[in-house]
Amino acid sequence: MIRFEAVDKFFGSFQVLKKISLEVALGERVVVCGPSGSGKSTLIRCINGLEQHESGTLSVEGTKLGHDHASLNKVRSSVGMVFQQFNLFPHLTAIENLMLGPVRARKLPREEARDLAQRYLERVRIPEQADKYPRQLSGGQQQRVAIARSLCMEPRIMLFDEPTSALDPEMINEVLDVMTELAESGMTMICVTHEMGFARRVADKMVFMDHGEIVEEAGPETFFNTPKSRRCQDFLQKIL
Ligand code: ADP
Ligand code: MG
Repeated sequence: MIRFEAVDKFFGSFQVLKKISLEVALGERVVVCGPSGSGKSTLIRCINGLEQHESGTLSVEGTKLGHDHASLNKVRSSVGMVFQQFNLFPHLTAIENLMLGPVRARKLPREEARDLAQRYLERVRIPEQADKYPRQLSGGQQQRVAIARSLCMEPRIMLFDEPTSALDPEMINEVLDVMTELAESGMTMICVTHEMGFARRVADKMVFMDHGEIVEEAGPETFFNTPKSRRCQDFLQKIL
């Protein structure tokens, strides 16, 4: 589904991604962790073209990401993304946030889009919040709206960038539960998160990044029980 081959990326003279090689198969769940500033967000932002890489190749479902709009549009239509800061439209209700993409991008009639949106609000277990504005919802509810909004576009890949980091502790699980269900439904997912309980439950593959490099890549058993590198051992010791 996703293949990085020796991908480099720079911000000016600063190299933020160094020779990244990574493959994600259909239905695979990958959890990415690592210290702040190690390049995790940049890595996943490259996958839907929010950042562009300088060298190496990155392909999504066989489409090579280049600088052309055609490849970007093709890839973006199959990749959904959820951010730390929900990024909901404040002037739209929950259901209107969900309907926007299907109406504008997928050209669904409004009533059809509304039905679709309502189904996804049910799937994230907040159908009763449909007509509330983001400011009237808790952080956990807002993040579930954001997940549902992404799912309304019927993506084949979902990217999560620290989706629970901005939440109060008591709301973290309601979001992780929705993500776990999504994983169990067979969605191909890459999640940047430090929620290691979640990682142990759902990850097929763990990736540890440091200073722009993938330092370690392993199944969760190996990753948590016998991390190879010193950097990864130190990191796990700090967060577990
Ligand atoms: P992480 O998500 O692991 O915390 P990021 O991918 O956000 O790391 O950032 C990696 C590094 O790249 C950091 O040193 C950050 O300051 C830098 N960086 C991120 N975005 C930009 C940008 N748009 N311009 C310049 N530097 C950036
Ligand atoms: Mg980040």
